[in-house]
Amino acid sequence: MLKNKERFEKNTAKVYIQTFGCQMNEYDSERILYFLGKEGYVRTFNIEKSDIIVFNTCSVREKPVNKLYGHIGRLKKLKKLNPQLLICVGGCTAQNLKDKILKDLPYVDIVFGTHNISELPELIKRRRLTNNSVCLVRESGFDYDLEKVKRDIKFKAYVPIIIGCNNYCSYCIVPYVRGRERSILPTNIIECIKKLVAGGVLEITLLGQNVNSYGKDLHEPMSFSSLLDKVSHIEGLKRIRFMTSHPKDFSEEIINVIKKRENVANHIHLPLQSGSEKILGLMNRKYTAYEFLKIIDFARKELPDCLITTDIIVGFPGEDRNDFLETLNIMREVRFSRAFTFIYSPRKGTKAYSMADSITMQEKKEWFRELVEVQNKISYEENKKLVGKKFEVLVEGKSKKDEGILMGRLENSTLVNFKGNEDSTGKILQVNITKAKSFYLLGDLCAT
Ligand code: SF4
Repeated sequence: MLKNKERFEKNTAKVYIQTFGCQMNEYDSERILYFLGKEGYVRTFNIEKSDIIVFNTCSVREKPVNKLYGHIGRLKKLKKLNPQLLICVGGCTAQNLKDKILKDLPYVDIVFGTHNISELPELIKRRRLTNNSVCLVRESGFDYDLEKVKRDIKFKAYVPIIIGCNNYCSYCIVPYVRGRERSILPTNIIECIKKLVAGGVLEITLLGQNVNSYGKDLHEPMSFSSLLDKVSHIEGLKRIRFMTSHPKDFSEEIINVIKKRENVANHIHLPLQSGSEKILGLMNRKYTAYEFLKIIDFARKELPDCLITTDIIVGFPGEDRNDFLETLNIMREVRFSRAFTFIYSPRKGTKAYSMADSITMQEKKEWFRELVEVQNKISYEENKKLVGKKFEVLVEGKSKKDEGILMGRLENSTLVNFKGNEDSTGKILQVNITKAKSFYLLGDLCAT
């Protein structure tokens, strides 16, 4: 067997990659694997046998940052056993906290920013020629090429359509680490998706920090709803999802496309964040709770079976009990099928970082528990409405907990577990829903 040094010399070093955070980061990891694969490096899922470890980080929430420090701390031993091992940190935390990472974690070899993914192979070569860590974090750039991606999953794919964000929500670091909005040309998006479909992809997710502002920056401006409509006409494409939406840019035209086009998923993920006008203002969200509810009313009227999900932040600076109750009221009124709820954590470099907390951590945790309890009950009740009905399910593979059980998703993205053969992975099957839980469904495969 080749030794680590020889594998580097023969360009067959083994790469272990771990991704934190959102779908855009997952997509970026596919790009990292493409550029390293092009050099001949091979992916491994065994961290102890790897020659290169890449952490693709997120800094939107505090947890992934803490997780990164925990993970790297544990690698100290591995690095001592194998001094040739290269530890690389990329993604949003690297972009935002490069100096801190280099100072706190001296055994990190390479730090690379969100705009430098294509340059990672070069940085690896550079690091092997020097005794010092190397760091490349450009302030801006745009190295997205939809062709340059290594996808392991053959039946579904992420396709970015817009990178960056112009919104500057006061709590969010994304505009600082991903830069301003830049839309990818519609012709490139359509070509990419046609190729994916020809290769067997059934479901695509159009990605962006704010997909609804797609196309405003193009030489020939185009709306997101027009792009969605165009994509939906690609022959053989069974399902189209998109995320994330921003209520200030979400249009009735998008709802009309969902209604008109069979293959656009009947699912809207619309982050509310808070039900209080005061807090929405402090968050710089640029919509009111009233405007948010107007979109929901229109969606409910036009798409009665549409699944609506959201994100909520609890304990934002300035939030008092009345503000929190306003959020709870909207949750009860809208009856989101799922809500991704977070306790606010300050991110250095954002406007909200300097805002003073209005409640204690203890109160934040209590309100958070209250919110989750209300939401879990609603999620369960909404899921229960699906029991006894038959749905198409795209099989994603074996359940992580139970070998004989498959997991898949309904068109509206709800998770369903059912007995079946692993060979069905990547196929769309008919499943009868037999039982509801708060976060998923149970079902039986329909006889063919
Ligand atoms: S819309 Fe707001 S929360 Fe979303 S990425 Fe942009 S700044 Fe962050």
